[in-house]
Amino acid sequence: MAVVGLVGGTGLEKIFSGVEEGSYRAGDLEIRFARGSIGGVEVVFIPRHGWSHEYPPHRVPYEAYIHMFRSMGVDRVVGLSAVGSLRPDLGPGSIVVPSQLIDYSLHGRTLYDSRVYHVDFTRPYCPQLVELVARETARRGVDAKPYYTYVSTYGPRFETAAEISMLRRAGGDVVGMTSVPESVLAREAGIHYLLICVVSNYAAGMQERVTEEEVYRVMSRARERIEDMLRWVLPLVGEADLSDSCTLPYEAYREVYGV
Ligand SMILES: [Zn+2]
Repeated sequence: MAVVGLVGGTGLEKIFSGVEEGSYRAGDLEIRFARGSIGGVEVVFIPRHGWSHEYPPHRVPYEAYIHMFRSMGVDRVVGLSAVGSLRPDLGPGSIVVPSQLIDYSLHGRTLYDSRVYHVDFTRPYCPQLVELVARETARRGVDAKPYYTYVSTYGPRFETAAEISMLRRAGGDVVGMTSVPESVLAREAGIHYLLICVVSNYAAGMQERVTEEEVYRVMSRARERIEDMLRWVLPLVGEADLSDSCTLPYEAYREVYGV
C-alpha cells in the first residue's frame, strides 16, 4: 500500500494515529512534517501555510515539500484548500473536487529551470483519483461536487468584482490562491495529485464583502465534514492501483535531480 502525502490546514494531524514528527532540509529551509496512519494507510502531512501559519500563499515553499514527498517515495498527494465560490448555487461550506484548472496566477514556478521540459497538463488533477472519489462520494451519499473548474490567482489579495465576473464567464467554478503552483509542481515531479476544496465564501461582488472572520467561521463548521471525508479518501488513495500518465514526468525529474 502506498504512502499518501497530505497538504492542508494545521490541526489535521489530529485525525491520525501514531503521529510522529520529522523534518526535511531544503537549503536553508526546514520543512517539518507529521507522519501517522489512518484506516491502515500511512500519511505524511504538512500544513501548507506552515505550523504557525507563517507563509502567505505566494510565499509557500511549494518546491521544497514536493521534493520532500518525492524523497520519501510518496507518489500520491491530496491537497485540501479553501476557495471562493463563483457559482450562486455553490454556497459556503460546499465541498468540491475539481477536475480542471485555469491558471490566472501567472506564477510561472517550475521544477525545470535548468532544462527545457514541457509537462503535459491536459488533466491537471489525477484523473483516476478524481474518478475514484467521485464514484465513492456518490456511493456514500456524500455531498461533494466533482468535475468542477478551479481558477488559481496569485493573491494574497482577494479579487475585484470585475475579475470575478470575468473568471465566471471564463468557465471557473471556484477560485483560490494555491493550486498553482502546487498542482503544477506535483505533476512535474510525477506525483498523482488530488485536490479537495471547501467553499469558505462567495467570491467578490457576489456578496457584500469578504472578511477573514467569515472565512474562519465557515471553515471551522466545515472542518468536521472534511475530516470525515478524509477518513475514507486517504485509505482509498493509498490503496488505489493507479495506471494513468501522471507519473510520466518522473523520468525527467530523476534526470534533473539525480535521484
Ligand atoms: Zn494520476
